[in-house]
Amino acid sequence: MGWLTDWRRKRVLERHRIDEALWHRSTGALSFLPRNDKLKALVLLFLAEKEFVGAHDLEVTEEMRIAIAAQACLPILELGLDWYEGWHGVLVYAGDFRVRRAETDESGVVHEWDDELAGEAMPGGPVVISWDAAAHDPAMNVVIHEFAHKLDMVNGAADGMPPLHAGMDRRAWHRVFSDAYEGFCDAVERGRETWMDPYAAEHESEFFAVVSEAFFTKASEVRRRYPDVYDQLRLFYRQDPLQHQD
Ligand SMILES: [Zn+2]
Repeated sequence: MGWLTDWRRKRVLERHRIDEALWHRSTGALSFLPRNDKLKALVLLFLAEKEFVGAHDLEVTEEMRIAIAAQACLPILELGLDWYEGWHGVLVYAGDFRVRRAETDESGVVHEWDDELAGEAMPGGPVVISWDAAAHDPAMNVVIHEFAHKLDMVNGAADGMPPLHAGMDRRAWHRVFSDAYEGFCDAVERGRETWMDPYAAEHESEFFAVVSEAFFTKASEVRRRYPDVYDQLRLFYRQDPLQHQD
């Protein structure tokens, strides 16, 4: 990032702070968040650089903005806000929202259907979040999920492999994630009860997003079930959530 961005960010941090009571009201229920000033500083920058918009006149309150920003900033706590550059908007719906999908099959027939979504990450565009899902669905963390997709999209279409850091091994990542993904899909196909949202079996990119949610919110489960995946995520996110959980 250039000097101008550095200067702006320094000024934001010098001039603003988040009231402790407001921070607590907004994030008190999010027990997986690390309690440190670094996260709060990143949230201030996120709030300064991203624009929250409520869909259908939804009022996005300070508490909602901070709760979403805090979870969005967790994956980039050690990576930095530049990983979210190139787009600005966070669109918040009160509840799940419908999007129209269309696909043309091999014989040229166009199929259209509606998808009911709790969140969506548009390539080069906004992140869309259902506040109801973000605040009340214990089975998923839609905010971490969608922002993990954003990181996956930094190097092109979401494929389950974000840009890896120097010293990381693409083949190791691919092998480790493919093994885990295939095993998970197999369990879902057999109708077995899965510990992670079965939606992870939809695509490699969904597996990365769902296992990223688990990495930050149920770290010990991920390390126990997928120790190699845990190691790769630890290298990519440059943090070990087990150090501040449990
Ligand atoms: Zn997804």
